[in-house]
Parts: sequence; C-alpha cells; structure tokens
Amino acid sequence: MIPLTTELENMLDVLSRLVKHNSVRTAPEAGMPFGTGPAAALEEALTIAEEMGFRTHNMENYCGWAEIGQGDEIIGIAAHLDVVPPGEGWETDPFTMVRKGGRVYGRGVADDKGGVTASLFAMKRLADSGRPLNKRVRLLLGTAEETGSECMEYYAVHGEPVACGFTPDGSFPGIHGEKGGTSMTAYSKKTAILSMNGGFVTNAVCSRCVTEVPADAVDEQALRAALAQTELPESTVTCEGGVLRIDARGVAAHASTPLAGVNAAGCTMRALAEAGMKDPFVDFYNERIGTACDGAGIGLKMADDWGELTLNNGIVKTENGAISCTLDLRTPVTVTEQQIRSACAPFLEDDRGRIEIGEIGKPLFYPADSPLVQCLYRAYVEVTGDTENRPMVIGGGTYAKHVPGIIAFGCAFPGVDNHIHDANEYLDVDELERQTEIYVRAIENLLDI
Ligand SMILES: [Zn+2]
Repeated sequence: MIPLTTELENMLDVLSRLVKHNSVRTAPEAGMPFGTGPAAALEEALTIAEEMGFRTHNMENYCGWAEIGQGDEIIGIAAHLDVVPPGEGWETDPFTMVRKGGRVYGRGVADDKGGVTASLFAMKRLADSGRPLNKRVRLLLGTAEETGSECMEYYAVHGEPVACGFTPDGSFPGIHGEKGGTSMTAYSKKTAILSMNGGFVTNAVCSRCVTEVPADAVDEQALRAALAQTELPESTVTCEGGVLRIDARGVAAHASTPLAGVNAAGCTMRALAEAGMKDPFVDFYNERIGTACDGAGIGLKMADDWGELTLNNGIVKTENGAISCTLDLRTPVTVTEQQIRSACAPFLEDDRGRIEIGEIGKPLFYPADSPLVQCLYRAYVEVTGDTENRPMVIGGGTYAKHVPGIIAFGCAFPGVDNHIHDANEYLDVDELERQTEIYVRAIENLLDI
C-alpha cells in the first residue's frame, strides 16, 4: 500500500471510528430521539472534535456542534452522522471500515461520515494555521438527515442561526437550487381491480407491483401482449380461480429522476387499458398520472431555466377495496405554491378517482452569481482546476432546505459514483484529501465575505 501522510492516517482513523457505529435510525429511547446508534455516533464525533481542541455541544442527541474561532457571526457546515440501512450485497462488513489499496469501504464513508471527516480536518488545518478567525466556524452534526432532517429542525429552533455556509452532502461544484418537494396521494373511487400493491418508499420509483383483476375483466392474451409492449424488463401473468395475477417488475430509481427507472404500477395500468380493460380507475390513473412522469395529466407540466417538474408514483396499496398511490413531485425552483395549487385544481377529482394534496414544500434557490455560490465555486476551481462543471440545480433535497443560509457543496466529485445508499459504498483516499483542501479554501473565502 502507498504510505500515507500522518494527517491522512489520522483522517482514516477518525472515519473508521465514525463508521463503526451503526447509526441507522431506530425507535426513540430515553434521551435518544433517533435511537442508540445515531446517539453513539454523535458522542463519538463530539469526542473526536474535543480531542482536536474544538468547543463542542450536544443538543439533546438531536444534533451537536463543534466550533472554532471567535466573533458573532457563524459560518455553518451541516453534515450528518446517520446512515441508511446497509442492505444486501456487501463484500465486507458495512460497519467496519476496510481499506483496499487507495479506497476505503463502509456504510457512510461517502454519505456523510466522509463529509464530517473532511470538514473536521479542514477546521483543524485552519485552527492550526494561525490565521486569526474573526468569525466562528461551526460544524453542525445532525443525526436524522436520511429520515426527514428533524435534527436540523431542532437546531433551527434551539440553536444559533448561521450566517452562511455549506453542507458537504451533495456534490461539487455546488448545488445552488433544489426543487420544491410536493406530496400527493391518488385514490380510486370505483374499480374492478381486486388488489394492487407495490413499492416501499414514496421517494423511489415503484419497481415491483402485483395486481389482481377478475379474469373476465380483460383478455389474458391481449394483456400479455400489452405488457410485452411496455418498458418492463419482466412481467408474468397467471390465472387461478377466475383471478388474473400480474407480477410486474420495473426498474428502481430515485423519485427526483423518475425517468431513469421503469414504474411497475404505471406500466401495469397502461397495459390493462391497452388490453381493453374498461375501468374507471385504470382510466383515471392513465390520464392523471400515467408514465410520462411530467405532471401533464394534472396540469402541472412546467419548467423553468433550471429544470422541469417531475412526478413519481412510489407506493401503491389496496385497503378496504380502495387503491391509493403516493405521488412525489419535484417542482421547478421558481414555481410558487399558489401556481401549483391553481394549475392542478381542475384535475384533482372526478367520479373515477381523486387526488389529495399533502405537503407543498418550498424550493431552495440562490442565483448562480450570488456571493455564497461564487465563494464556494471558486474554492473548488482553485483546488481542482475544473471549470467545466458548474454549480447546478437538483431535484433532491439536502440540509440546505433546513438550515437557512447554506447550500450543498460536495463532497461527491462530478461523475464519481460512490455507491451511496447502496452496497459497497466507498471513498477514494485521495478524494478525502482533496475534499479537505477544498473545504479549507471554502471556509477561507467565506471568512472574507
Ligand atoms: Zn447524505
């Protein structure tokens, strides 16, 4: 193995100390709102920060912070210590960081314990540099980012506001806009479908769906032919006791990029109609939701200079004879709640089905030429020399929506797939080094604003 600098050895040691805590959220326990794992990871991180000479504070195990510098203003860096469940397919133990050549493996090494580590060492370099710090630099350590960011909501209420900063939980060279997140649910009113169930989470494309219809509602051969015409990689139709059972397998994808997947429920609905099934809810679904993922069926096909609206059906469930479908929409950064409400209002209900609006979340947007975006982008260019990639707008949501004044900046490099939320998550050791360097520059630039 290539010998590492002492600092890099220390960084890997810190990262492995964070990875060893299985910080997947579990049921609350006394004094631990997100369970024992996230609390243990927070305690470890705060201990590490103290060892590095930073001031620290634990905010009732919702979150904590580590700080250097003096002054009224705070430059905030918001990173998270919780992780998503490891899932199947790991070649090594997900909670034991393993180094193979120039790479380390483990759940969270990239998302976001690597971001925590790079931020801590960037702060350490600044503290050691002797540069007078006329502002405080505070690393906010959250423990529930993957499950709704209640940790940062808690900080927003109980913590000191930050003036500006970033969250190392997206990608370089920075994310200056995040689309708004809107949730809706579609319900059937009348349908011959006996049951339809698929999907596990609202924020992913429904990748498998099992549907049962009466055998006399649709021709079996025509249905097979129609299913074969869809984008589904695999589907089976079986007939037993007068019931046709369709098992459709699509392709999963994140809800913010639904066209990267194949929706098993959407394709099933389309095939049922193609095969000649006359059904109020099949028609309602195909007209209002469909498989185009653009919201056109409910009057919401819209776009601005930074991207178009996307719509994803994540979960389909049948309860007491009624079918419900969750819809996860990502709305353009310049579109207002009022525009969304009035555009879809005429399409939400008729005698075949209805769509209920849940939450309409606000988008986040900083112009690309705003000082914050420019400060961070400059730091990235100074270290990497890359001027080809530009700050971007995404459909996903980060801590930036919960911590006013910050945007997502790194820590993923353009074009690098660190297998986050997947098996064998990894981080290249030299990326950790470069992230730290970029964050040092970024903080320096923010100190100068
Ligand atoms: Zn993350």
